[in-house]
Amino acid sequence: MSQVIWNFEGKTAIVTGGSRGIGAAIVQALAKAGARVYFTYAKDVQAAKALVATCNEKTELVYAIQADFTKPADIENVMTQMEKMPIDYVINNAGLLRDRPLYKMDPEDWQQVYQVSIEALFTICKRLIPVLTKTQGNIVNIASISGISGQAGQVNYASAKAGVIGFTKSLAKEIGPMGVRINAIAPGYIETDMLKDIQDKVKKKMQRDIPLRRLGLPQEIAQSVLYTLSDAASYTTGSTLVVDGGMY
Ligand code: NAD
Repeated sequence: MSQVIWNFEGKTAIVTGGSRGIGAAIVQALAKAGARVYFTYAKDVQAAKALVATCNEKTELVYAIQADFTKPADIENVMTQMEKMPIDYVINNAGLLRDRPLYKMDPEDWQQVYQVSIEALFTICKRLIPVLTKTQGNIVNIASISGISGQAGQVNYASAKAGVIGFTKSLAKEIGPMGVRINAIAPGYIETDMLKDIQDKVKKKMQRDIPLRRLGLPQEIAQSVLYTLSDAASYTTGSTLVVDGGMY
């Protein structure tokens, strides 16, 4: 994959769920482009420290904040810190799977997915829009192809991700007049820990169903995020960019 050269020097970003997978690729791409980046992580202190160390080899621009979005006090703590910063970009990336058929799904499986994907989005956007209005920044929300096409075993996740898309479209109409953009990106199947429990033979079948015949890379989602944040997308708001190798 060839790398586009982005320049985000002087910009400040917050990335939720940034310690691994797609979030870590976004943090790395933003840091490489010169942005100051604050990222949240739920539990894995070692992974967060390793990412900070890698990104900060040349500059001191990346900071990690522990926050479990199923705990309102943790979100409050992050928001209290971020509201004081000149944030230009908010990337709502944190998400989790609790896949089961509906008849086996526990209320906790439903609730946790909604807390991390939707309730955190509500709080973070509500609290940071006053900052973005000042900086004329913008927001990217990571949705999913499941929120568009639906997926067996994912009534919680797919409905939450469809909610992310509806949230994005609605808020775009509210904050567009203030000069603040908000967009969603809907990845298809991307090689991260989220897919680690899928058997190899199932993965092979998934690949056969994808026109580009492979799973996506976290870096490919990161590049789409940077494009959407950048001035190259200055007339784009309320949209959902599907990045799925042609699957949908
Ligand atoms: P991942 O499991 O590697 O990373 C998920 C991130 O969310 C982690 O950084 C984790 O710390 C964070 N997170 C999980 N539970 C949390 C909690 N309780 N509180 C705060 N943060 C929490 O998965 P990924 O593939 O990198 O997923 C990143 C985003 O992309 C998610 O929103 C996911 O739904 C979405 N997505 C992934 C795929 C895929 O195929 N991998 C496809 C479509 C959409």
